[in-house]
Amino acid sequence: MQVRFEDVTMRFNDKVVLDRINFTLPSQELISFLGPSGCGKSTTLYLISGLLEATSGHIYFDDQDVTKLDPVKREVGLVFQNYALYPHMTVLDNIMFPLKMAKVPKKERVETAKRMAELTHIADQLDKFPRQLSGGQQQRVAISRALSKSPDILLMDEPLSNLDARLRVEMREEIRRIQQETGVTTVFVTHDQEEALSIADHVMVLDKGEIQQMSDPVTLYRQPKNLFVAKFIGSPA
Ligand code: ADP
Ligand code: MG
Repeated sequence: MQVRFEDVTMRFNDKVVLDRINFTLPSQELISFLGPSGCGKSTTLYLISGLLEATSGHIYFDDQDVTKLDPVKREVGLVFQNYALYPHMTVLDNIMFPLKMAKVPKKERVETAKRMAELTHIADQLDKFPRQLSGGQQQRVAISRALSKSPDILLMDEPLSNLDARLRVEMREEIRRIQQETGVTTVFVTHDQEEALSIADHVMVLDKGEIQQMSDPVTLYRQPKNLFVAKFIGSPA
């Protein structure tokens, strides 16, 4: 599924967070939103998921205008920094929860959840509770849950920020693998330029309410469009 923003503005009270931004996220790619804290990365994700409604402009999923579409009708999976797992539910129940809400029959729920757990390499932990798992394992559960309804788009908001450096590298390779195996259009939000450059097909750099550059990682590094991008990426002078 391709995602397109057309002249999207987002204001909170009088503060303009996104100022008439335009972009297209190519179908089946892993795109990273990169920028400093407060630049509007999460806001952009929430606009895609429908948790926020744009002040003006239009958002399209392929040719469908979803600007006013209810979030529950959008085929979108979400993964957060803090995992947001249900502490009183087992891993299996966590992964199945969106399917239960969608009234999928039990047998099918279990089968799908197990398939997701195989995909994310957490299938040996299905009877555990979240508190019994490491951070990396909890994020695997969160990814399984986000993928359980086969969304068209997977949105991840700084999913690795709570992990230590070694696990961050391991998990970003896992996210890349899972994205390639499923082919789901994925947005990966981060403020870490190395993470963005190493994981993404395309990187969208945001600052001051505007898209500073959207390029593949090599072009972004070698041909930054302005001083902000050059400094943020740490390109050679
Ligand atoms: P990022 O994820 O890049 O750190 P955010 O999208 O969370 O940035 O926030 C962008 C800006 O919008 C920030 O200045 C933040 O304070 C402001 N903001 C975000 N959500 C709200 C809200 N619900 N009400 C008012 N201001 C908000
Ligand atoms: Mg954020």
